[in-house]
Amino acid sequence: MTTSSSSFDLVVIGGGPGGYVAAIRAAQLGMNTACVEKSPSLGGTCLNVGCIPSKALLETSHLYHTVAHGLDTHGIKAGSPSLDVAQMLARKDRIVGELTRGVGVLFKKNKVTHLPGAARLVKPGEVEVTAADGGKTIVGAKRILIATGSEPTPLPFAPFDGERIVGSTEALSFSQVPRHLIVIGAGVIGLELGSVWLRLGAKVTVVEMLPSLLAGVDAGMARLAQRAFTKQGFTFHLGAKVEKVEKTAQGVVVRGTGAKGETLELEGDRVLVAVGRRPYTAGLGAQEAGVALDPRGRIVVDENFQTNLPGVFAVGDVIAGPMLAHKAMEEGVAAVERMAGHASRVNYEAIPSVVYTHPEIAWVGRGEETLKAAGVAYKAGSYPFMANGRAKTMESTEGQVKVLADAQTDRLLGVLVMGPGASELIAEAVVAMEFEGSAEDLALACHAHPTLSEAMKEAALGVAGRAVHA
Ligand code: NAD
Repeated sequence: MTTSSSSFDLVVIGGGPGGYVAAIRAAQLGMNTACVEKSPSLGGTCLNVGCIPSKALLETSHLYHTVAHGLDTHGIKAGSPSLDVAQMLARKDRIVGELTRGVGVLFKKNKVTHLPGAARLVKPGEVEVTAADGGKTIVGAKRILIATGSEPTPLPFAPFDGERIVGSTEALSFSQVPRHLIVIGAGVIGLELGSVWLRLGAKVTVVEMLPSLLAGVDAGMARLAQRAFTKQGFTFHLGAKVEKVEKTAQGVVVRGTGAKGETLELEGDRVLVAVGRRPYTAGLGAQEAGVALDPRGRIVVDENFQTNLPGVFAVGDVIAGPMLAHKAMEEGVAAVERMAGHASRVNYEAIPSVVYTHPEIAWVGRGEETLKAAGVAYKAGSYPFMANGRAKTMESTEGQVKVLADAQTDRLLGVLVMGPGASELIAEAVVAMEFEGSAEDLALACHAHPTLSEAMKEAALGVAGRAVHA
């Protein structure tokens, strides 16, 4: 039975980073706001099966690896550690639970109405919500914001079975360390989750169709990263084509062709398919309602994040652009602020990317190849963590900072960091780029000594050929 419920100024569909942040900001702006979420817990992919749980496992596995291999040099004799996988997963689940419940608390605090259920866009101004018990409610909405996110893309010849051919969600919850994990795709997920299980003792083999890992990242950084990961024990087959994934009594066999045309046959116990994500619009009824999609299934929006249907908006992974939680959050805020008449915008030039491996890899702006392809004349300065005092005391000297600046104006065009604390260090570069700063601005700012951030200052000094400690 369908019942009619109240009407809202804004109904947000999806309670992930794009949706929940938009809902809170809209409520702050005085809109009577509801957020529809079909999963029992708020927070979307990021909080439930993405950013947060993966970081929890990366932290545990890094500690485990450090205890097993990195303490002798400090003079600490800890013996060989043993791993309680169930406890590791329970800790991860506790963190996820705390954060997802936190979103509910924020909703209450900001008077956002949480509508549990699956939303379907009936037409502009109207959303149907199907609750877990099948009951349907029609909700009125002056405006509708779609923030339904994305889902892992399956390979046509290797559909996910949740057991042996898995996506990132299942790879966050293996009940034991795989003997041999085969990863298809050397992107962010493949490298992060590959790192987790490698550090815990799995053999990890990554098959990637492109000639380098982390497609689109500055090639110099990608080469450094490949060297670091290979040293850690990753096996890479780059430029390789996977043609078949077979399940056997024991596990899986991945067959394909290597970069030199050789036959590739890998036996493992599980395959993680990490070949990208695709916009998630299943059951949303967007197309049926007339919302225009691009050829990749992403919802097309204008500068107000409005679709071709008046009063229907979209943000986050379901529209074009990098599939990143923080990009979705920025868009969610900008979209509702624009609804409220503000001139908000998202600066897509200054969205940081981070790979939470060890060392971490982070960047903002453009890399060298992108600048060359665009015919932009630039100057580069780089600085290795090997020469940074703090990094030495941390026994974490792999990697470097690279600063790219306009050859004429010195304006920052891109900053890339591979090294300890890269995920935090990149924030300084993001702020500098938001302020349209120059390499000299970074270089002249006083950085505390001894800190990792001095590598940023030295790389920026290097743009003008005046690094001191190089
Ligand atoms: P990705 O796009 O980062 O990498 C996918 C990789 O798979 C690419 O290198 C691609 O060339 C390769 N590939 C595609 N088809 C293949 C095939 N048939 N055989 C072999 N290789 C193939 O995608 P992902 O790692 O799955 O991540 C999905 C999305 O989630 C990304 O947009 C990513 O930004 C986001 N994400 C971000 C973070 C983070 O910010 N730390 C973490 C996880 C996921």
